[in-house]
Amino acid sequence: MESIQIKTASKQYPVLIGKKAINELPELITHELNHLNKILIITDEKVAALHLQTVKDALIKTGKPVLHHVVPEGEHAKTFDVFYECQSFCLSQQINRKSLIIALGGGAVGDLAGFVAATFMRGIPFIQVPTTLLAHDSAVGGKVAINHPLGKNMIGAFHQPEAVIYDLEFLKTLPLKELRSGFAEVIKHSLIADNELYLWLKSNIVDLNDITDEQFLTMITKGIGIKAKIVEEDEKENGIRAFLNFGHTLGHAVEGSMGYGNFTHGESILIGMVYALKLSRKKVDLDFKLDEFIDWVSSLGYQITIPTRLEHAMLLELMKTDKKSVNDAATFVLLNEVGSPLLMDIADSELIEEMAEMI
Ligand code: NAD
Ligand code: ZN
Repeated sequence: MESIQIKTASKQYPVLIGKKAINELPELITHELNHLNKILIITDEKVAALHLQTVKDALIKTGKPVLHHVVPEGEHAKTFDVFYECQSFCLSQQINRKSLIIALGGGAVGDLAGFVAATFMRGIPFIQVPTTLLAHDSAVGGKVAINHPLGKNMIGAFHQPEAVIYDLEFLKTLPLKELRSGFAEVIKHSLIADNELYLWLKSNIVDLNDITDEQFLTMITKGIGIKAKIVEEDEKENGIRAFLNFGHTLGHAVEGSMGYGNFTHGESILIGMVYALKLSRKKVDLDFKLDEFIDWVSSLGYQITIPTRLEHAMLLELMKTDKKSVNDAATFVLLNEVGSPLLMDIADSELIEEMAEMI
């Protein structure tokens, strides 16, 4: 079992990572949150069928009443309607400030349940129990949100959890596509902060179907450690938190224009990372073995080129309206070297030129 303390200006909380970490949850609740009157688990349909009972069984030890509310899978969970249903459920079940919400699922459930917790009665406590690899990124940092038809994650809050309990057993049922999506964020964390981790990943993770518990433990612990350090310094996203957006400027544009759900988040940002690495070589002389990187990620099943049906002019417009751009130019996270990111505005002509070279 690994344990990381996250210290932000507003709160300090533990992240526990390991096999059967869920068994730590009752004790944590009894010690830290013994005043609770009720626990509400919010989870999605798929995760409910696979893992809800395990969590409910673990919570028996707390002696508290445990309710659950099941929402649709994926982005379908992050809608106004589902958010409203959750609030109605909380009101009808007399959830109040002495209650706890547990988000059991991937990033979508974490974002939705976290936003319900952030807003219900002006904020009640919640705990993240992530079940995807991607959620090593989303469960830490306190950003919670739902989508608006005009933009993803546009309606949200900063609301830090009381704890994050990451049970590696839950990852065993994750489909390969979702594993691939989450692993892209692991790669991202290594590239922006830790060359040693990058080299370790490249030589050890050669088949996504064959990742050992030890390897999961290492990559998740290091990934969360990197995110935690950045979030601790910049809780409300005024500065260096933007580095977490490495690969995301083009990635978001690709993900959005392929239609959310058709191309996973990780698959999209992997293409964005290849693009950002190429730009980094050109703009700041990044010394990086791009061919080795491309061979490695291709062997893991990632696509590394922009899908041909996407128009580059449209992607450019999407990149420029990305919320990280402060003026008319697209702002990119580039790398001076692996582990040393920087922000740079890049002219349209260069962006178009580089996209043409990606094919
Ligand atoms: P997700 O929650 O939609 O899960 C992906 C799919 O896997 C779903 O169909 C889900 O039912 C299924 N699933 C989850 N756990 C499973 C398990 N253990 N076994 C089998 N199936 C399982 O997606 P995600 O990739 O985890 O997260 C993506 C979301 O996270 C996006 O909405 C994104 O905006 C958000 N996000 C938020 C932050 C943040 O800082 N708040 C950061 C990154 C991403
Ligand atoms: Zn991401």
